[in-house]
Amino acid sequence: MLELRDVQVVFDGFRALDGVDLTVPEGELRFLIGPNGAGKTTLIDVITGLTRPAAGTVRFGGQDLVGRKEHQIVRMGVGRTFQTSVVFEALTVLENLDLAATFRKPLWTLARRRDGVSEAVQEALARTGLEELAGRSAGVLSHGQRQWLEIGMLLAQRPRLLLLDEPVAGMSKDERERTGELLTQIADDHTVIVVEHDMEFLRRHASTVTVLHEGKVLVEGSVEQVSADPRVQEVYLGR
Ligand code: ADP
Repeated sequence: MLELRDVQVVFDGFRALDGVDLTVPEGELRFLIGPNGAGKTTLIDVITGLTRPAAGTVRFGGQDLVGRKEHQIVRMGVGRTFQTSVVFEALTVLENLDLAATFRKPLWTLARRRDGVSEAVQEALARTGLEELAGRSAGVLSHGQRQWLEIGMLLAQRPRLLLLDEPVAGMSKDERERTGELLTQIADDHTVIVVEHDMEFLRRHASTVTVLHEGKVLVEGSVEQVSADPRVQEVYLGR
């Protein structure tokens, strides 16, 4: 599904990514961890076309992503969230989802669609459990509900690969638990890459973890393997 080979990103002589190799098979829920500055966000930026690597290849579903524009990559089925959420506060939950679903279509399709919301929007509402909040303005949602709405907006665009940058940051224990279940469920029919720091959350929900450090993949494996690895304890856990 996703394959990065020897990816290098250089900012003013500083190597933010220094030869990253990463393979994520279809349908996997992969967690990406690493200390601040390890290159996690840069890696997501490279996959989504925000940053062009100085060298290396990024292949998604057999197609090369390097050199493609952000909107082309979205249309190929790659969706992402940022650390700060991008929901439209003045619109309702349903309008946010509908906008996301419609956004990549020509505008004339908007005028034609008078018969309620699309199947993609209904599915996104159901999966994120936001049905009862559909008519509520996004501006009054709790932090957790906003995060779920944002994930719903991605789902409404029918991606194949979702890249989520710290989706459970700032959530309550219950919200984290629910998000973990949502991610597992989404991974039934999508490939999902999640940046997350919380080891307890990883223990409960992760299958495979990739640890980045100084722009390189340090270790990859199960949560148990990764957290027991002395190199990881040294650089990431600080123990
Ligand atoms: P992480 O997400 O793991 O915390 P980042 O990918 O944000 O790490 O950053 C990796 C390194 O690259 C950091 O040292 C950061 O300061 C640097 N960096 C990221 N983006 C830029 C940029 N646009 N210009 C210069 N340096 C950058």
